[in-house]
This record gives sequence, structure tokens and C-alpha cells, in this order.
Amino acid sequence: MPPVAGELTSSWSRRLALGYGMPVQDLVRGVISRPEGTRITGAARSGRELYLNGPARAAFARFSGIPLNELAARLPGFAFSHERLEEDAVARAAWWAPRKAWVAACPPCSGRSWSRHQPVLVYPEAAGHVCQRHHRWLLANCQQASAIDLRPLPEVLLAHRRHAALVRSHPEARAVMKLAAAAVWSWQVQGWQQKAGWHSPTSLLASLTGCAPSAVAAHTLIAYPDTVTVARLLADQSWQARLRETATASGTPAATQVLLEEVGRRTRRLWLGDWMAACSRAGSRPGVGAGNVLEQWVARLSGADGAGHRAGEGLWAVPRPARRPVGYGERTSYLIESSSREANEEAGRAFLTGGWEPT
Ligand SMILES: [Zn+2]
Repeated sequence: MPPVAGELTSSWSRRLALGYGMPVQDLVRGVISRPEGTRITGAARSGRELYLNGPARAAFARFSGIPLNELAARLPGFAFSHERLEEDAVARAAWWAPRKAWVAACPPCSGRSWSRHQPVLVYPEAAGHVCQRHHRWLLANCQQASAIDLRPLPEVLLAHRRHAALVRSHPEARAVMKLAAAAVWSWQVQGWQQKAGWHSPTSLLASLTGCAPSAVAAHTLIAYPDTVTVARLLADQSWQARLRETATASGTPAATQVLLEEVGRRTRRLWLGDWMAACSRAGSRPGVGAGNVLEQWVARLSGADGAGHRAGEGLWAVPRPARRPVGYGERTSYLIESSSREANEEAGRAFLTGGWEPT
């Protein structure tokens, strides 16, 4: 039973254990057991990753008949030792929290590896959170495969195709997406949901997931098409040249205005430039470095950020106050008026609080 590409080691070992009809902890103990000693840390609770030291990895390769390098290529968590795991003659395994986002793989795409009893869990990495073939946004459910049906959301599928192209063509695509997400987040917290054009994805996602709009407000999918639009624009070298020229000739605010107008044109929100200007005049909400994420980017692009950097240096860094919160609960508390606890619990029950993020 070979691992699926990008699978969690814990997911693969659970599937192996299921095949032998035994608890996964017993399988791990049986596989790595050796005369020099064996040590397993932590309980095999669902949602955890299985980390192995050198002797334990070698034991898994012997047991499965799959060479070490092949396992390391397929299992991202298998490729290295966890720094908390001692490297000695004792075979050691530990169940700890995964260090990256994971999702349940698309069942038809994981073929024979998929079973109703044990979903295949994978790391989506830069852009593996959507199955284009089956129109699904994959969710982090470790009990069964679950996903958001994207057929009613063609703009999300289109955004994902463009995002995947950006990942293929731009070496720093992840950082670009993170910066774009910070910019879109700053608009979200400044009240974009009050603008009519941004109601529909929220209400659509609410109806698709059976959740209240307040529970889905913080989900990444809602801001995803805008995030990809901004990311592609920022990564576009001809646009970078144009903005640099404008900043040199007329200053950073003028270049930022040109950029915002283009974002507004591409997102069919022609009021965006004026709205943003009004927001920054009114001052941003406390606690959020909103409004000026793109202005700071334009300043770095043109070498006018006052930090003594050369033009373009540290271009994709996101200033700490402007970062989009990774935690779902924290985002919800910014976005909804009422108490966020209930909304977060509801989102958690629908498996919306984990999974892929633009980080
Ligand atoms: Zn699929």
C-alpha cells in the first residue's frame, strides 16, 4: 500500500493499520520495534502527524518494501527528523501536531487508496487545496473526505487556475500571495462586507455549507478570487515597471492610486480606488495596519520606503501589523459584530477552521 504523493505519514500508517485490521499505535510499535530499543511519544490522536527518527524511518522502508528516498519524496513529514526527536540507536516515533496545513484528499483522485473508513490526508502545499477535475475546495476533516462544491463558484475555480499558474511561473509565489492576502484582509476589516458586491460569496458559501453567514465570514475562500487578482498584478513585471516610473515621477501615493484603480478594474469594483482613499483619510481601525499595505509595497518597489533599501529589496515582506491573522477565530472576531464564539464553533463543526491558507 504505497503512500499518495504529499500524504501525511500518520495518514499512510493509519491506512496500513486498517489493512492489517489493527490499531495504528500497535502497527507503529510492531514496525519500528528493534533490540536497541523502541520509544513512541504521544497518543495516535486524529489530526496529528507521525514523526520518525532515522532508525524508525529505515524500519518503515524495510516493512513496506519501498525505498527510503521514495518514501521521503512522497511523504513530506517523513523527509526529515523532528528536532524534538532524538537521533540515536533507539527507534523513535512521536505523534505531534502537523507543522503545515493539511486537507482530506479528493476521493475520486486518490483512487484505490481511498476508503470510507480512512480518508487520505495530504499537505496541499502552495496550491493543492482545490481539485480542478472534481470542482472541490478540500477541507481539513480527518474523519472523512469533505469539500466545498465549487460548481456554483466558477470564479473560485478560475482564481485557482490562475493561482496554480502563478506558483509555476513565480519563484516567490507564496510570498506574493501572502502579501496580496494581507492587502485584501485590510479591505475586509475596513468594512468591505458592507459593500453590496461582496455579499454574494458569503451568502453562497453559507448556503453551500449549511452555516450562518457569520460562521463563514472568515473563510479563506471568500477573499480568494480577490487575493489571486491582487497577487497576479503585483507579480506582473510590466506593471511593476509602470508603477516604479509613476512613483519616481509623481510620488508613491500617485503610483498607489494607479495600482488601486487597476485592482478595482480587474475585480469589477471601480469604486475601490476612491473608497480606499476615503478609508485612509478616515484612519484605519486600531490594531490593524490597514489601508497602506499596497502603498508600503509601492514604496519598497521604487526604493522610497525610507529604510535605505535598494529598490525591490524585501519586496514581498509583510509588515507585522498588516499580517492577516492565521487563526480562524481571530479573523472572525474582526469581521462580525456579534460574539464570535458561536460562529467559530459552527465553522469548526463544518471543518472550515483548518486547511489551506495563503501563508
Ligand atoms: Zn478530484
